[in-house]
Amino acid sequence: MADASSTIEYVVKPPALPTLPVKGTDARFPVRRIYCVGRNFAAHAIEMGHDPNKEPPFFFQKNPDNVLLPDTGFPYPPQSNDVHFEIEMVVALGAGGRDIPVERALGLVFGYAVGLDMTRRDLQGKAKDLGRPWEVGKAFEHSAPCGPIVPASLIGHPAAGAIWLDVNGERRQTGDLNQMIWKVPEAIAYLSGLFTLAPGDLIFSGTPAGVGAIKPGDVMKGHVDGVGDIEVKVV
Ligand code: MN
Repeated sequence: MADASSTIEYVVKPPALPTLPVKGTDARFPVRRIYCVGRNFAAHAIEMGHDPNKEPPFFFQKNPDNVLLPDTGFPYPPQSNDVHFEIEMVVALGAGGRDIPVERALGLVFGYAVGLDMTRRDLQGKAKDLGRPWEVGKAFEHSAPCGPIVPASLIGHPAAGAIWLDVNGERRQTGDLNQMIWKVPEAIAYLSGLFTLAPGDLIFSGTPAGVGAIKPGDVMKGHVDGVGDIEVKVV
């Protein structure tokens, strides 16, 4: 089969490029990579059994096609009985590079979104115990529900403000963006020393305390001040 824009032929059908809607335009944001910051709120690090003061930042990834548009509903994944929500502010990059200094890092940001780092906590826990990678816990189908990207040109760069998540109308997670151990510019700078960042990259910036399990039928509603809301039903 031939690509319409070139003479390249593929031996199998090329996958669709995952994209997200962008507030204020019909143009879409193409998703290249998804990075996630681990244990970036002290209270969450403590609830997961770690000392927040001793750790340099660490990262894991999800697959770009794990992105889920909220109105689709989150299908409860297989092989787990302990699927957790993690409300997070998502940073969407419009530019990239390597070894970006902290002072220049926000210049890479196209915008922000409200996302959920859905986690098969039981499988993640087993992987941790065995010293194995986290993909089975973190990078499964539909594990990255994400609302529309809101351009920084409209809202600036949120560094403080409430971040919370309700399940079935009951408050479960609360925090403030100013509680991030590694601030957004620091996370970008640190990541850019490990990887070459590029337009289309998303960074899930970490979750406040209060993570917990959901079940089919639950409705998760999350909020990040200055960015917006996300509502996802577990189906
Ligand atoms: Mn997370």
